[in-house]
Amino acid sequence: MSIYTISIVPKQLVYHGDRFAKSKEIVQWLIDENVIDSAVRADSAWGEYQYRSGILKYCQPSPWCHPNRGGYGMSVITEKTVFDRLGFDKATCSHCGFSMNEYVFYKIVGSWWENAGEVPCPGCAKGLSIMDVIVEPAWGFSDLGFTFWEAPDFTQEFYAKFEKRLESKLWIVYCRL
Ligand SMILES: [Zn+2]
Repeated sequence: MSIYTISIVPKQLVYHGDRFAKSKEIVQWLIDENVIDSAVRADSAWGEYQYRSGILKYCQPSPWCHPNRGGYGMSVITEKTVFDRLGFDKATCSHCGFSMNEYVFYKIVGSWWENAGEVPCPGCAKGLSIMDVIVEPAWGFSDLGFTFWEAPDFTQEFYAKFEKRLESKLWIVYCRL
C-alpha cells in the first residue's frame, strides 16, 4: 500500500520568523479548530498529531471523508528539509526557461543542502539557487513545514489560512510514498 502525503511549506529557504514559535501557533490554531488532536503521539510514524473531525470542513469532497484513518495525522517539521516527491516532471530556470536534467537539478538541490552557493545555469550561465528553479510538480525547501499523512486534497480556504498565518507564499508538495 502506498501512502499519500501533502506538505504545506512556506516559500522561504530559511523561515523569516521564529519557526518554533510559529509552528506552535499553527498547531494551536489547528487544535482550536478541531482539525488535530491536542495529544502528541510521539510513537506515530505517520504524524504525531492525529486528525479530528474538524479536518473535514477543509477537505475537497472525496471518498476519504472520515477523520479516523488508522492513526494518520500531521507532522511538524522544524529542520532544514527537502520536501521532495521522489522525482519531478520538469525543472526550469526562472531566468531563461532552460529545462534542466536531473544532474543539474540535483546539483542545485545539493548545493542548497550543503550551503555551497550557486550553480551556473547551463542555459544562461546565471548563478542559480534553488529559489531560481521552477519545479513541476512542486517541491519545497525550507526549515519549516507541515506534512499531512494520508490526507485528501484541501480546500483553497485552508491553504489561504496557512498563507496568512505563515505570512508567506507556499509550496504545496504532493507525494505518494
Ligand atoms: Zn538560465
